[in-house]
Amino acid sequence: MFENLSERLSGVFDKLTKQGALSEDDVKTALREVRIALLEADVSLPVARDFVKAVQDKATGQSVTKSVTPGQQVVKIVHDELEHILTGDQDPGALKIDNPPAPILMVGLQGSGKTTTTAKLAKRLKEREGKRVLMASLDTNRPAAMEQLAILGVQIGVDTLPIVKGEDPVAIAKRAKTQASLGGYDVYMLDTAGRLHIDQELIAQAAAVRDVANPRETLLVVDGLTGQDAVNVAQEFDDKIGVTGVVLTRMDGDGRGGAALSMRAITGKPIRFVGLGEKMDAIETFEPKRIAGRILG
Ligand code: GDP
Repeated sequence: MFENLSERLSGVFDKLTKQGALSEDDVKTALREVRIALLEADVSLPVARDFVKAVQDKATGQSVTKSVTPGQQVVKIVHDELEHILTGDQDPGALKIDNPPAPILMVGLQGSGKTTTTAKLAKRLKEREGKRVLMASLDTNRPAAMEQLAILGVQIGVDTLPIVKGEDPVAIAKRAKTQASLGGYDVYMLDTAGRLHIDQELIAQAAAVRDVANPRETLLVVDGLTGQDAVNVAQEFDDKIGVTGVVLTRMDGDGRGGAALSMRAITGKPIRFVGLGEKMDAIETFEPKRIAGRILG
């Protein structure tokens, strides 16, 4: 997913490391190229600018140009800074699911991969942590979406809340909570309705569900291929509903990957998981070190 950025940067770094002594101008020129490479990879302008400035400050502070291996040192500073942007304080994969039944709220736009991700995470919790999970679809506008979750539930061997026609999302959330308590479930996941765009009704509904469920985690699912839009969507959901983390889907595609960098820098929200395909096992925890490594090639 980071092939282009990675290629561009390794070109810049090759030039740097081949040179012996570096002047400050050499470093400046290289960082200008880094900045262009970041922008072309869909990293937002303020993030790219801050990134280059941070690297420049560190390079100056450490008198890189006087060092024996100036090029390598610049590359290391870039690497550390990249990791710094991507890393949150917490372990991305550790979901807060103490005090059963723990509610997890899944939010996002329609088509982002929300229902698929709900099922993928349920399967993961069941298989890796031995948790009993109940999934409920709150998408009352789209009966097909409710059916889809039920079908996935059967496929992965995870229970879904029976569908009751005519119930509103808040009532479904309450029923899920009751059923999860009575049934001895560890976790219940609420797959909220998505829409093509963020609108008042979508936000009002998600907020009403949040207020009754009091979720331990609110995970926003965004399509990683939408680049900068994914970051804007995340910012808006976080402002209006409050999210505890982001799942970037379709990272198996040929997206330019810059969204991953801007996501944390702009929203302050950690990326927790990445979706890597349509299959139920195609999800991984977000690994900042690995991503930084892939970006730098
Ligand atoms: P929702 O409307 O947000 O609930 O989206 P869905 O879960 O129905 O997903 C929409 C489509 O995207 C489906 O065909 C999924 O199989 C597909 N999808 C979801 N996540 C991924 C992913 O990480 N990679 C790929 N390639 N496809 C995905």
